[in-house]
Amino acid sequence: MHKDLQEILISKEELAAGVKSLGERISADYAGRCLTLVGVLKGSVFFMTDLARHITTDVRLDFMMLSSYSGMHSTGVVRILLDLKESIEGSDVLIVEDIVDSGLTMKYMLQNLGTRLPKSLEVCTLLDKPSRRRAQVPIKYSGFTIEDKFVVGYGLDYNGIYRNLPYVGVLRKEVTEGK
Ligand code: 5GP
Repeated sequence: MHKDLQEILISKEELAAGVKSLGERISADYAGRCLTLVGVLKGSVFFMTDLARHITTDVRLDFMMLSSYSGMHSTGVVRILLDLKESIEGSDVLIVEDIVDSGLTMKYMLQNLGTRLPKSLEVCTLLDKPSRRRAQVPIKYSGFTIEDKFVVGYGLDYNGIYRNLPYVGVLRKEVTEGK
């Protein structure tokens, strides 16, 4: 375990099993269709590439980068830093997110992408933290529901680091308090 962590919440093996099972559900639901996975940079990258390898129907990958966080706290303001490369009009679209916390980012994504007239638009999140929800968003696929703890690893960062940890863990208080 990384020295800055207080505990591992979801092991590498648990992540692998959860992602595989999501991929199987998505494969069955979208069988015979071409699915556009829209990843939210940068947090969803590790999850998205593993998930895509478990999807047996054809997929396209596209990305958006949004900003709503600085450090650990939501500012509530969402900005598009990088937009999709391709049009999604008439496409089956699945938004792939690392974590849905307040739900504000996902609410914005759904509204924004919804105006581009996709054939279908659904949400797949690796982690769901329902205790802090401020906007109700329909999550079709969710890997793991977690408590209200700030987690890092498997794509999730704290001030840009820890994304490459192969598990999801909770940072020690000293790290987030800067001691
Ligand atoms: P929301 O808009 O749902 O509050 O937040 C979504 C974004 O906040 C996520 O994509 C992620 O970047 C960030 N976030 C929320 N909770 C956590 C957390 O526990 N750990 C990390 N590293 N990021 C989080």
